[in-house]
Amino acid sequence: MIQANRSFWESELYDRTFDLIIVGAGLTGQSTAYFYKKNNPNASVMVIDRGFFPIGASTRNAGFACFGSVTEHMADMKIEEESKIIDRIRRRFHGLKLLRSTLGDENIGYREPGAFEIFTDQKVYEKALDHLDTCNRWLKEAAGVEEVYQATEHNGFPSISIKYEGCLHPGKMMRTLYEKNLKLGVEFRWQSQVEKIDKNNAYVLLENGIELRSNKLIVATNSFTAKLLQDVDIKPGRGFVFVTKPIENLRWKGTYHFYAGYYYFRGVVGNRFLLGGARSLDIDVETTNEFGKNDKIKNHLLSFANEVLELSDGWEIETEWSGIMGFTSTKSPILKMISDNTAVVAGLSGMGVALGMQLGKEASVIVDS
Ligand SMILES: Cc1cc2nc3c(=O)[nH]c(=O)nc-3n(C[C@H](O)[C@H](O)[C@H](O)COP(=O)(O)OP(=O)(O)OC[C@H]3O[C@@H](n4cnc5c(N)ncnc54)[C@H](O)[C@@H]3O)c2cc1C
Repeated sequence: MIQANRSFWESELYDRTFDLIIVGAGLTGQSTAYFYKKNNPNASVMVIDRGFFPIGASTRNAGFACFGSVTEHMADMKIEEESKIIDRIRRRFHGLKLLRSTLGDENIGYREPGAFEIFTDQKVYEKALDHLDTCNRWLKEAAGVEEVYQATEHNGFPSISIKYEGCLHPGKMMRTLYEKNLKLGVEFRWQSQVEKIDKNNAYVLLENGIELRSNKLIVATNSFTAKLLQDVDIKPGRGFVFVTKPIENLRWKGTYHFYAGYYYFRGVVGNRFLLGGARSLDIDVETTNEFGKNDKIKNHLLSFANEVLELSDGWEIETEWSGIMGFTSTKSPILKMISDNTAVVAGLSGMGVALGMQLGKEASVIVDS
């Protein structure tokens, strides 16, 4: 780091108290900034991120604009009561609407090519069908939409079709939001790792020794929150994804789920195919904040692509990567004030494309209430 005393002019520019500082420039943090600045045009708002661009989950996810498959809801029933599940579906459904109306479908590469949950085990399928009515009732209650889940067959698999689910380009989503924030006058500090937070004084200390003060502070660091706030219970979960080179006659062009949402795959522009997930195979190793690849999971996904989905011979991976999700002990994210002037919003698990903007909007309000 460059060592130099501040000039008189620099001090006047930088030694100021911001109205709001947000730590974390993922979808949640940037959405918080966007709605706060929209509602408070004269407020000084600063977003700080450790990365050259956001580096967590928002630019590294699979781009499903989804609100849950039937087996995902069934798994949720084991850990949470019905009212919480319905509330989360409501937030996801409306969160997607908010995201699309705020950023514009074209800007984020949104499309609805048809969504299915597929099954390889007849018994599991039948159990899921027993829950169709319940899940359809939840969607009706949460979002006012009818017959969302329907039994069908797809590509030779017993399946459940899912109405209103789509997909998008996460990079375009984040770029559009960033541009909107710049237009509003939100300030950004990239490559600035926050080392310490004083929640009572809304003050942050950066790794390079610089201190920043604000009237209000929002911590939107998702899985990395526990490093800054030890009493917030968020566990990391790494997710692995790959995209293939173009595949001729690709028959998986829609969006697909398998096994309680743990496996997800979809068509990507240019006849490419995306496959990710299977964290459930090595959950302890994948409970990590470190990016990287787990060969056991990668090899398993390769077999899944070849033996279950039967991709055409000779297909190849074009790009592979990992991202880090943040999990609470239930599936409900955390959004709360942790002092008079500091809020935390984190733990969006594998649902943040749908939840991130909605939660960011809510965070922009509770911090002033
Ligand atoms: C592989 C994968 C696939 C996924 N697929 C989907 C999907 O298809 N659909 C869906 O809805 N959701 C999906 N998700 C989940 C979704 O991407 C996340 O829930 C969402 O992006 C969370 O957004 P966020 O802004 O809360 O967190 P993040 O995007 O993780 O942002 C947190 C930010 O905080 C910054 N930060 C952390 N610590 C510090 C620090 N000390 N100082 C400064 N900055 C810091 C990080 O650099 C990061 O930019 C997936 C996630 C992964 C990993």
